[in-house]
Amino acid sequence: MTKQNKHDYSISSARIGFGNDVHRLVPERKLILGGIEIPFDKGPLGHSDGDALLHAICDALLGAAALGDIGRHFPNTAPEWKDAPSIKFLRHVYTLVEAKGYDIINVDCTIEIERPRLAPFVDRMRELVAETLSVQTDRVSVKAKSGEGMGEVGRGEAVRAEAVALIAAT
Ligand code: MG
Repeated sequence: MTKQNKHDYSISSARIGFGNDVHRLVPERKLILGGIEIPFDKGPLGHSDGDALLHAICDALLGAAALGDIGRHFPNTAPEWKDAPSIKFLRHVYTLVEAKGYDIINVDCTIEIERPRLAPFVDRMRELVAETLSVQTDRVSVKAKSGEGMGEVGRGEAVRAEAVALIAAT
């Protein structure tokens, strides 16, 4: 169910948050980004499914609401989060942000990965994130770029993601 966000918010009720994440890419792991499985020969190493995009969005939302960070809510020592789909983290973060009395205004993100090309998958990521956060799809932006052959992203050793989120008290 999608909320219509019909409130007029005052600027003093708005909060911005930033999140980022990086995971090493290794063979024999599924590549899941934005909750969407992408055919590729490597995937992120991590305690959960290693979905760097969703982890960055979780941190951006938690940061905006001053609710700590993803490591505090989903410790990587906890057996219940081992190989967990990160969409579960995002669902939980949404309930925390909503319980604190905030609406989500928009989320903007960038994924950095050398290969594969993510363009064919970006709209499905946006739809899944928007549905999980109960907002219209046009409030979620996902951009993808390569590392231009430089650094750990450019060498295909890592996937990185950054996200900003704007929320407002209702
Ligand atoms: Mg992570």
